Amino acid sequence: MYIDGQWVTERSHFLVTNPASGDVIGEVPDCTSEDIDAAITAASEALKSWKQTTAYERSGLLYRAWEIMLSRKQELAELMTREQGKPLKASLNEVQYGADFLLWFAEEAKRINGQTIPSSRDNQRFITQKVPVGVVGAITPWNYPISMITRKLAPALAVGCTLVLKPAEQTPLCAKAMAEVFEEAGFPAGVINVITSRDPAPVGEAFCSDPRIRKLAFTGSTAVGKKLNAQAAAHMKRVSMELGGHAPAIVFPDADPAHAAKGLSLVKFLNTGQACISPNRIFVHRVHAEAFLAELTARVCRLKAGSGFEAGNSIGPLINEAALQKVDSQVQDALAKGATLYTGGHRLTDGELRGGLFYAPTVLAGVTPEMRIYYEETFGPVAPVVIYGDEDDVLAMANDTEYGLAAYVYSNNLSTAVKAFEALEFGIIGINDINPTSAAAPFGGMKSSGLGREGAQEGIEEYLETKLGGFALG
Ligand code: ADP
Repeated sequence: MYIDGQWVTERSHFLVTNPASGDVIGEVPDCTSEDIDAAITAASEALKSWKQTTAYERSGLLYRAWEIMLSRKQELAELMTREQGKPLKASLNEVQYGADFLLWFAEEAKRINGQTIPSSRDNQRFITQKVPVGVVGAITPWNYPISMITRKLAPALAVGCTLVLKPAEQTPLCAKAMAEVFEEAGFPAGVINVITSRDPAPVGEAFCSDPRIRKLAFTGSTAVGKKLNAQAAAHMKRVSMELGGHAPAIVFPDADPAHAAKGLSLVKFLNTGQACISPNRIFVHRVHAEAFLAELTARVCRLKAGSGFEAGNSIGPLINEAALQKVDSQVQDALAKGATLYTGGHRLTDGELRGGLFYAPTVLAGVTPEMRIYYEETFGPVAPVVIYGDEDDVLAMANDTEYGLAAYVYSNNLSTAVKAFEALEFGIIGINDINPTSAAAPFGGMKSSGLGREGAQEGIEEYLETKLGGFALG
């Protein structure tokens, strides 16, 4: 753990394992309640001088952290593959995406502008200033163990907030490596604190109830997000919540089914489906059903599961046994209720996969609302295909979910695409595009998918208060 510029190791530890092999790859300290308090104290003491630094000083440090992160890209990516299981190429992409936030917010730090506002009284002047919200408590997930850290820390630091980070218990080593990057960049002691905990609940409770923490930034499941939001509301704290998703992907009659199948085979199986923006319901118009399913199945059959360190493997393990069981139970439920299995549908245990948590990339067709998979987030390598006949109905079907994070549309007709973009109740919509994300673009969801946005200019507002001055002139 990294508290007030010091590395803390003398605690009981918990183990970190590689989900591809089951091997223990490290151990990290399990924080005590005193550690949580010490980290919050360090962040609130450091805030006094950190918020007085110029935007140019903060920008310079973020820029330096960006340089260090890129110089360690390979090392960070290899650690991520060992700890989280994703293929090395995907880890390299994530380190780059994570670094992008440092650069974007290093630049944006210099553009935190206030306003002058005309008054109806000739002797009155209004000005506004943007000020940092204060100490931030950040809780991050294991599926994107580095970029979810920088997506929160970079804007917080850019505006003059200090923070305490608690990473997921499955991926604390990536967080430790990022703390080393920030330390080497030269951030003052106490500005960034990292605590690791086997049991996240007491840390969440402390972040929500300690009056010195003014904002909670969370990425994780909707269930935990709702709980933390309720706890934070009791203390009137600002929150950002990036929660679950259940993304629809719609293939319209005017789309190219082969192109759509190619794109969706890539985005569905990215990170082994363990992404909140992963397509979870693929609606294909009946005119394309046969061609789409043939192309999708052919592509999915070519996906190889295994160690992320072996070139050519694109399917990593699931993060733990519970995740694997959840995926399998959704698939078995769908099959019992009449879905058709095109490929996959079982755990992989042959050869080197034996020690890991691998599930065969799966395509299901004939999925209906009676099946759990139609409404529940899967977070695994399963592509459920729903065949539809009516273009107006499909937009209502796509919106029929408590989630509102991402959606995907395939159409070669401009009017169809614009109408779908306007009708879909989701925060991020890819139109013939499977990667609608960037440090410069707002990321976040509607409905039970969360509150607020990360990245982009919206992402920095999350860490700012507006202060109004009304000046009466004598
Ligand atoms: P997932 O099911 O994908 O692991 P979680 O919401 O459980 O998603 O985890 C996301 C992050 O939230 C992790 O850092 C985890 O440790 C943390 N977390 C889980 N439960 C709680 C809780 N009760 N209070 C605070 N943080 C929590």
